[in-house]
Formats: sequence, structure tokens, C-alpha cells
Amino acid sequence: IIYVALQDFEGIIAGAGNVSILEPIDESPAFEQALSDSAFGWRIADFDSLQVFEAFHPFVYKRELIGLFRIGLSLEPINNINNRIFRRVIIIGFILFLLGSIIILLIVSRQNLNLLSRRYKAVESYSNEIVQNVSDAIIALDNRNIVTAFNKQAESLLQLSADKIISTSISQAPLPAGILTSIDSKANSEMLEVVLDEIRLTLLLSKSRFRDEAGNLNTIILIRDLTELKKLESQIQRKDRLSAMGELASGVAHEIRNPLNTIGTIVQQLEKDFKPLEYQDDYYSLAGIVRKEVKRINETIESFLRFSRPEPIIPSKFNLGDLISKIQEQYQPMLKEKSITLDIELKWKGIVCWDKNQIKQVLMNLIQNAFDAFEKAGKIKLLISENGGNVEIVVADDGPGIPDHIVPKIFNLYFTTKAKGTGIGLSIVQRIIDEHGGIISVESSVNKGTTFVLRIPIDYLNKSN
Ligand code: ADP
Repeated sequence: IIYVALQDFEGIIAGAGNVSILEPIDESPAFEQALSDSAFGWRIADFDSLQVFEAFHPFVYKRELIGLFRIGLSLEPINNINNRIFRRVIIIGFILFLLGSIIILLIVSRQNLNLLSRRYKAVESYSNEIVQNVSDAIIALDNRNIVTAFNKQAESLLQLSADKIISTSISQAPLPAGILTSIDSKANSEMLEVVLDEIRLTLLLSKSRFRDEAGNLNTIILIRDLTELKKLESQIQRKDRLSAMGELASGVAHEIRNPLNTIGTIVQQLEKDFKPLEYQDDYYSLAGIVRKEVKRINETIESFLRFSRPEPIIPSKFNLGDLISKIQEQYQPMLKEKSITLDIELKWKGIVCWDKNQIKQVLMNLIQNAFDAFEKAGKIKLLISENGGNVEIVVADDGPGIPDHIVPKIFNLYFTTKAKGTGIGLSIVQRIIDEHGGIISVESSVNKGTTFVLRIPIDYLNKSN
């Protein structure tokens, strides 16, 4: 309490504190208001260079208004509290601001992190898709030759699941020896012939190296399966060789045919018009031999010419299954005699548009060759399936097989290993398949058997070449 005073209109009646400097009652409208209302009032006032809270109330003695009772209270404690509260508010405000900023920073960085991880996942899955879906097999190795990637193509080509090989050393992987040696070798690119699951494959293996972010040298191995390409290449080579042979044969045949006809006519003439006086029997028999040999040469020439001027394809729609059943019926007695079975599996039964007679000849030549290959009992399998607009015909036997050095020759015109063979069968097969826009390939293993695979477009009229 700074002061207490009882004051009438003349001046201070009683008081405590420095009340001598209090202003008179009639100088403040607030006092007058309190007096006229006869009510309690208050104000903030300056007193002796201090700010005070002053409360005042009219003072009545014996029902007569005497003046005012005034009490001045120091505002210092309140100001101190105010200041403290103000400081605290500032500090709390600052802390809240700091907390808010940190939370906002966290939210923003969280969002950025989410965005980055989404982008990272997108890039990762995109590059993963590329690695998984390329047509080549890809194997990645780290600097210790541990497998770090093994794509789908690698799984299907090498018949190994990625789960089993990833994180293991490549040298312990169950891969064909040729592939492991090539991975170890210094050459960056190599052509390999390997046998996987009894199938001979031609592979192109290439290696490239890169350093990862830790500076370690990693290796990428790319394996391309060139087996089909190689088959196609040898088919083209065979086709070229056959047409060159055919041309040469027909050229020679034309040159021989005219003098041969002359010889034939002269011999006939001699037989008819001349009669020797002696050795008549010998004369006729020798003339007969010449006539017969001329006829044989003529037949050979005819076959040369037939080959070089193939019959045109006359396509018609027919059911392949029916044709095969007819061929099976036709061969049945012969097969029975040698205890050979002919199994037919029709995975696809449909209508084809091919030259029926020529395709029949193809199938018969292949079955006949398989039949000839057996000395006694054996099994021939004919499998028909469809794949992407092509009919696949597989003719497989478990006969003696063909030695590796002979395989490249079997499609050559006049190549035969049989005592009574002509060596024309497979050349004709090759030519007819070519004409139908198809391809033929052969796989053979000595003592295991031979498999011919034909792929022919279902509709000759829609064939691409
Ligand atoms: P040919 O049957 O008159 O010998 P081909 O052109 O049909 O003529 O066959 C050529 C050669 O291919 C045969 O002599 C034989 O050596 C070989 N060959 C063809 N098919 C088979 C087979 N299924 N098994 C073993 N050898 C075969």
C-alpha cells in the first residue's frame, strides 16, 4: 500500500504515506462520478513518479457525504508478475516456434524421403524390369565372384533358379564346364558349344566390367543363345548348296542328254537293222546292255532335272491328323515286321494349307529314314504341335544316331550311307520345306537317336517369305 487517505473537498483529513501530494477531489472526473453514483471506483494514476492502482469510495458520516476514502496500491508486484508472464510467454512462444519449425522440417523431410524412396523404387523396378526382360541371359558378379544378379533368361537358359545361385560363388554353380571356363578366361567374348539337358546349344558369352560406388570391380556376363540362329544359318547354307548343286546337275544333264539320246537311237537302230554274221548272241546282249545303261543314265538325268525344276506347290486345305493317320496305316505292316512302333502324339489337330502330296512325301521320307536306321526293334515318335502360327512336326527315333562329322552332309544331294540309298530323300525334304516357308533342323547323338524338327507356317498362302 503506497498511501491511504480520507479526503474531503477542502483537503486531506487523515492519511498515511506521502499523501500531501494527492490531487484534490474536484480535479478528477472519476472521483466526481464515484461521488455522484455513491459507488466504488478505481483508476490507474501516477503518484510520486510511481504508477499506482487507486481504489476510492465515497465517505459518509451521519448520512452526510464528507469526501472520499482513497487507497493507493503499488503496481510493482503486478508489473513484476506481468513482466515474468511476458518473459515466459516469449520463451514459450520461442520454444513453440522452435518445436513447430522442427515438426514442419520433419514433415517436409519425411515427405521428401517418401518422394525420394518412391522415385528410387520406380527407378529400381524399371532397371530391374529391363534386366529381367532382355532376351539375353544376364549374370552379375561382385569382386569376389559372388553372383549378385541372375535374370529370368539366365534361369530358363541355364535351368537354374536365381534363389539357389544368388549370393553363392559362381565357381561352385552347377553350370556346364564350358561356361565356367569361359567366365574364368581373359577373353571378353567367346562362342561356346555346350550340352545342357542333352540339348546342344550354341552360346555367345560376353563379359564387361564396371566399378560400383565402393570402387570394387564387378563383372556382367551376357549369354546369348544362338542355337536357333545357327540352325537357320545352316538351313540357308544347305539351301544355297542344294540350289547350286541342282543348277550344276541340270546344266550337266542338258549337255549329256542330247549325245545320250543319239547313242540310244543308234543302238536301237543297230539292233534292228544290223545282223552280224558271227557272235550274234553276244552282239544282241551287248547292244541290250548299252540300251539299258543309256536308259539308266536317262533316268538319273530325269531325276537331276526333276530336282532342279521342282514341281510347283499346289496348296490345298486338309486335316494334318487325317494325313498322318493314313501314313501310319500305310506303314503298319512294314513296322510290324521289324517290331518297330510308331507313336503319334497330336498336341494340335487342325487344318493346314499346304501341298498335300509333297508334305506326305516329306513325312514318308523321314519315317522311312528312321525305319532304315533300325536293324531290328525300335521306336519312332511323331509329335505335332502348334506355336505362333507355325506347325511343329517332330520325327524322332531311338536308333543308332548319326556321327557328328556326317550330320552336316546328310542334306546334300546324293549323299547316302546306305548300300541301296540314293541320297535324294533329305534333299527333297529340305526343298519342299523351304518352298513352304518352313525350316528343318536335326539333332542326333550316336547310340541315342535322331530327331528332325520341322516348323512350317500353317497357311502356305500367308507364309512370310
Ligand atoms: P538315303 O535315304 O537314300 O540315304 P537321304 O537323303 O534320305 O538318302 O538320307 C541321307 C543320309 O542321312 C542317310 O544315308 C543316313 O546316313 C542319314 N540319315 C537320315 N535319317 C537318318 C536317321 N533317322 N537315322 C540315322 N541316319 C539317318
